[in-house]
Amino acid sequence: MHVVFMGPPGSGKGTQATRLARHLGIVHLSTGDMLRQAKRAGTPLGLEAASYMDQGHLAPDALVVQVLIDRILEPDCANGALLDGFPRTIKQAVALDEHLQQADRRLDVVIELEVDEDELISRLMSRGERDNRVDDNLETIRRRLEVYQRQTTPLRGYYVNQHRLAKVDGAGTMDEVFDRILAVLPEKEGQCVG
Ligand code: ADP
Repeated sequence: MHVVFMGPPGSGKGTQATRLARHLGIVHLSTGDMLRQAKRAGTPLGLEAASYMDQGHLAPDALVVQVLIDRILEPDCANGALLDGFPRTIKQAVALDEHLQQADRRLDVVIELEVDEDELISRLMSRGERDNRVDDNLETIRRRLEVYQRQTTPLRGYYVNQHRLAKVDGAGTMDEVFDRILAVLPEKEGQCVG
């Protein structure tokens, strides 16, 4: 199964995505994690990405598409993957559709976690203190939320038109949210919701 996981920063996207990938037995690909790893390794790509990430801006489409597509075409993703934080722009979504189609694969469902903004800010501020993430400070958080609204929200329309979007209320405990996610999954591989 191929699943895209969308949600604003602080929505619990990473946590739920990890759990869902394990549940479905598919590879979990987080572009945020991949870019942070490249930054730590000090590769030219990682350093270029970091100059955007650390400010709360999106990394360039071409760079992220290359990283993600190279990875999703590896053999361990042949049965599917859970994409966490990708696509984040219409251009990325179009590139993903094209590459999957060439490989005779397609997206089954796009899950979007919804959480209100005050809750997002308070969750991100406490994560910043706990995990020491450079981009979890008030100014950068506000920019990431604004970037999400401006660049990622338009993806909703794209996936609604494809009848693939499933919205999930992200308020409540981790278990409550996870149960809601399971409820919107397509019943069988290859079948789509909506
Ligand atoms: P969050 O959604 O909580 O901000 P992520 O770990 O998903 O965290 O992403 C962190 C940063 O990595 C983003 O703010 C952005 O700079 C970069 N990034 C991750 N995925 C993408 C993507 N698909 N396109 C562009 N930039 C990305």
